[in-house]
Amino acid sequence: MGKYNYIEVPTEGEMIVLTNGILSIPDNPIIPFIEGDGIGPDLWSASVRVWDAAVDKSYKGKKKIAWMEVFAGQKAFDKTGEWLPQETVDAIGEFYIAIKGPLTTPVGGGIRSLNVSLRQLLDLYACVRPVRWLKGVPSPVKHPEKMDIVIFRENTEDVYAGIEWQSGSEEAERIIEFIKNDLNKEIREKSGIGIKPISPFGSKRLVRKAINYAIDRGRKSITLMHKGNIMKYTEGAFKDWGYELALEEFRDQIITEAELWDETRAEDGVTPVTKPGAFSNLRGGKPAGDPGNRIIVKDRIADSMFQQILTRTDEYDVVCTLNLNGDYISDAAAAQVGGLGLAPGANIGDYVALFEATHGTAPKYAGQDKVNPGSLILSGVMMLEYLGWQDAADMVVRAMEETILQKTVTYDLERQMEGATKVSTSKFADAIIANI
Ligand code: NAP
Repeated sequence: MGKYNYIEVPTEGEMIVLTNGILSIPDNPIIPFIEGDGIGPDLWSASVRVWDAAVDKSYKGKKKIAWMEVFAGQKAFDKTGEWLPQETVDAIGEFYIAIKGPLTTPVGGGIRSLNVSLRQLLDLYACVRPVRWLKGVPSPVKHPEKMDIVIFRENTEDVYAGIEWQSGSEEAERIIEFIKNDLNKEIREKSGIGIKPISPFGSKRLVRKAINYAIDRGRKSITLMHKGNIMKYTEGAFKDWGYELALEEFRDQIITEAELWDETRAEDGVTPVTKPGAFSNLRGGKPAGDPGNRIIVKDRIADSMFQQILTRTDEYDVVCTLNLNGDYISDAAAAQVGGLGLAPGANIGDYVALFEATHGTAPKYAGQDKVNPGSLILSGVMMLEYLGWQDAADMVVRAMEETILQKTVTYDLERQMEGATKVSTSKFADAIIANI
């Protein structure tokens, strides 16, 4: 355990340890938390009471989280003069599982975003966002209950990873020259330049994580979402590497959609024609073959995917995609089931996992005990699941659903519901705890 200047390690808890590639979770794990900026403290104090109540009730006091505050954002700056002290990063790495509220993006000071820095420094390559509807939540679609997907978004690569140069900069000009002179391709003068690197390593480790998740949770399918019909060597390669990994490492547990089509055709007496990895969405309809217990691995082109999560929502389960696609689809899917106020998330590496509310710090509401703690509470549910404490996780979800069905909600939901009672952040937590 590192020596910390500002972090106080609780004496009553135990560290989570990694043994032979498996995290072993004590009954009283020490879990670092970052309270967050803006609305963060309000959300934190409400959420922690809900999780603690559910854990206490589920395990009759035998399990208990030992919370350990670590510092980032404004609170860290005020305490240490740094926005993201090294000891915070070290502690999250050493204790493996942590949770955070939203963080301000400091203006100036050379930090692009504290969230992005945390993901990069801890190599948290998978952004995981489950999207499903909670009963009673207002939604713009007729059947929000059909949405139950988990998005695995690659977090470290893509044109989104920030390798870019401004129009007219020396770097942009040099690249334009190089591409013209050495590669014989024209780029218009004064173009801004962004680079889109997609590697087999980055793609495969994400798909591996998504398939392992699907196996652990009894999920039915993985969809590789890409724009490979146009960007063949980046997005198309992601799809190819995804299928390759699935077939190499999970042959007994998966069947590709193309293979399922072939089985369907073979049963009809038609010669199989498909190779795994062909664009499976070009054939339309659904194969009739029976995948048995195997997880179906399929792929979809990104634009059609946006239609299909609306029109054929329940055909999607785990969705695995590149960084930029993942950003868009996460919000589009969340909108279908009531918006970002209730959307949880996590950034996960090989072992280290940092759970977080997906919205920002909403500074205009800071300190007003007003906003919806749902996103942070549900991120905590993901954390309880990651700990293997499923009973407590389920209890929080049930109690929150019940509270929303009773129409006791914060302002954001109240303004969309008829006959609802508007309550503060802390009162919403009280109501959930009463339902626990
Ligand atoms: P924001 O903080 O997410 O707030 C935008 C709007 O979303 C709010 O005005 C509010 O809408 C609604 N909202 C957000 N959280 C809510 C909650 N818990 N309950 C109910 N409504 C909620 O986005 P922003 O204003 O663009 O960003 C503010 C700061 O947060 C920036 O410094 C940004 O960099 C940072 N940020 C941090 C994270 C992160 O830490 N993960 C993520 C995004 C942004 P109404 O006005 O309609 O009430």
